[in-house]
Amino acid sequence: MSDRAGVGDVVIAGAGLVGLALATALARAGLAVTLVDRAPLAAAQIDGWDVRIYAISPGSASFLQAIGAWQGLPCERIAAIESMRVEGDAGATLSFSAYELGERALAWIVEERALRAALLLQAHTAGVDVVASGRFSKLAWSAGEGTLSLEDGRSYSGRLVVGADGIHSWVRKAAGILTEPRDYGQQGVVANFECERAHHGCARQWFRADGGVLAWLPLPGRRISIVWSAPDALARELLALPAAELSARVAAEGDSALGALTPLTPAAAFPLRSLRLPTSVAHRMALVGDAAHGVHPLAGQGVNLGFGDAQAMAMVLAERGPVSDAGAPILLERFARRRAEPVLAMHTLTDGLARMFGARTPWLRKLRNAGLSAVDSVPIIKRALAQPALR
Ligand SMILES: Cc1cc2nc3c(=O)[nH]c(=O)nc-3n(C[C@H](O)[C@H](O)[C@H](O)COP(=O)(O)OP(=O)(O)OC[C@H]3O[C@@H](n4cnc5c(N)ncnc54)[C@H](O)[C@@H]3O)c2cc1C
Repeated sequence: MSDRAGVGDVVIAGAGLVGLALATALARAGLAVTLVDRAPLAAAQIDGWDVRIYAISPGSASFLQAIGAWQGLPCERIAAIESMRVEGDAGATLSFSAYELGERALAWIVEERALRAALLLQAHTAGVDVVASGRFSKLAWSAGEGTLSLEDGRSYSGRLVVGADGIHSWVRKAAGILTEPRDYGQQGVVANFECERAHHGCARQWFRADGGVLAWLPLPGRRISIVWSAPDALARELLALPAAELSARVAAEGDSALGALTPLTPAAAFPLRSLRLPTSVAHRMALVGDAAHGVHPLAGQGVNLGFGDAQAMAMVLAERGPVSDAGAPILLERFARRRAEPVLAMHTLTDGLARMFGARTPWLRKLRNAGLSAVDSVPIIKRALAQPALR
């Protein structure tokens, strides 16, 4: 609990999925936590299928279960990815199977608003002080605390301030970390479709000759959700297509593997950005989630990395022993050390793949396709490649 009147242990700026999960985990570990966001944060009504979905790794699912959120998800709206087939831009293929890897699922497809609602409920239950509709205006530090002030005059102090406020993090800039995200020149076009044939829990992904990546992810029943990481011009073209034409285009790009597609939602697009920071901690400040790292969504790992940050920070603070100060430098260094390697590994992998498949050089095209086939034929390498994504 807080050790000084009016000063909590942790103030978290940003109640996206990562901020919510971190706040809940810390409150469950006995810390006094305030969570602030500019959004109203009321749980949205679930009606139809959410176009924002996440592939949640088994490791993240275990963490969400430990903080009580996984159990709150409606199970009829979760789909298991039981196998995955990746196709290169010159016909090479790589496939993964949960069964072969000894897992129940490679990942779980979950809707954003369902996960948000489950996390928000747990944050309230765990005793987090949730502050909605609050825009950040000032961040100030003294030797013993950080204070986040809002535009409406309210302010919140904690021994530690955590920036969980997304890729354009205001907290990151306020802390003097001025590295800017790099644009991939691509947008993630997302939409849901009903499909003619059953998908049998198989996720499919095509690396395209234009540097884009098309992913079909299974939803419950005969439905799929797509993430088409498309070069900007193509993304604009796809968004402008009438729904029936977009369905036909998506079906054709995927070799009509599931027969005809019927649109369930309009398409939406999100700009894709890379962010790699020299450090994610400073005096009484730490960054988590997209505020700390931006990865290409081709491996569906962005929010999973963020949940990894939340889990690591909760463990470091829960196990701090005689150190009562949640913002003590030794704890922040411990947190930064724990996250450095997994974040660097995932960034290097996703960024490397995005660049390699983005290059048009013919010899590189041959090489990357040969690489896919080679990995596919060596189970031990395949297993090693899958492990970071699973955990
Ligand atoms: C197309 C696409 C598909 C993806 N698919 C996957 C996937 O399958 N699996 C996966 O793991 N990841 C995926 N990702 C990545 C994932 O979306 C992000 O990593 C994740 O949403 C980041 O969560 P966050 O909580 O860190 O940040 P955000 O979701 O950005 O939350 C930040 C919060 O901070 C608040 N905030 C920001 N600034 C302020 C301010 N100034 N004042 C007050 N509040 C503020 C915002 O309101 C928001 O609530 C995908 C990304 C894209 C673009």
